[in-house]
Amino acid sequence: KRDQEDVEKLRKATDELDTKTADLKNFTDLPLCEATAAGLRASHFEVLTDVQRAAIPLALKGKDILGAAKTGSGKTLAFLIPVLEKLYRERWTEFDGLGALIISPTRELAVQIFEVLRKIGRKHAFSAGLVIGGKSLREEAERLGRMNILVCTPGRMLQHLDQTAGFDVDNLQMLVLDEADRIMDMGFQLAVDALVEHLPKNRQTLLFSATQSKRVSDLARLSLKDPEYVSVHEEA
Ligand code: ADP
Ligand code: MG
Repeated sequence: KRDQEDVEKLRKATDELDTKTADLKNFTDLPLCEATAAGLRASHFEVLTDVQRAAIPLALKGKDILGAAKTGSGKTLAFLIPVLEKLYRERWTEFDGLGALIISPTRELAVQIFEVLRKIGRKHAFSAGLVIGGKSLREEAERLGRMNILVCTPGRMLQHLDQTAGFDVDNLQMLVLDEADRIMDMGFQLAVDALVEHLPKNRQTLLFSATQSKRVSDLARLSLKDPEYVSVHEEA
């Protein structure tokens, strides 16, 4: 069960995880709670990809991450697993409000992330929602206050933060910027800057992109604190 003892055990195992020498191969080698482990098993995920092996242990230890790895390398689980584990370790409940915010450049990508979250998060009790427009602002707004995890596009999320009365993000634990290169290429810089302004400073931030660029490092400078760089290259 979701008791303090289990959380303490996970925290200890995470502290003891040596990210330099850790010989990690499978998801079962990571200190994950039973709900996350069961969600991964049920989704038939077994062996870590390179970016997952590099990023997840650091993220579990609470580090900010600046991650670059090509499309198809498995970046989605590299941030969704830390999101679930963070909220589990904080013993997040439906009454704690928004705990994690995941920003994606497009509605299609947001939907894909949400589907993976539903699959691997199925054994967790967290509520999760999509904020990508398509419904009236008011309809979306009514559900926002009850969500623990939101997957959103930048423009729509900013609209809510500016306009939805009583939408409280003060407890936010984790911000994820996925496909940061595309977020910048699509001209969302100002929206993301404004969005980040609304969020508490005392949070963990994970930023992932397929490519490294000046714009991505600009965004990283603004949103990350003393980040760990995780860059996965293909073998020559
Ligand atoms: P990226 O975001 O880096 O482009 P995705 O997270 O979308 O990559 O993953 C690409 C594909 O790889 C998806 O079909 C996903 O289900 C699969 N995948 C991710 N991690 C693993 C894993 N550890 N084992 C097997 N398949 C995986
Ligand atoms: Mg991706």
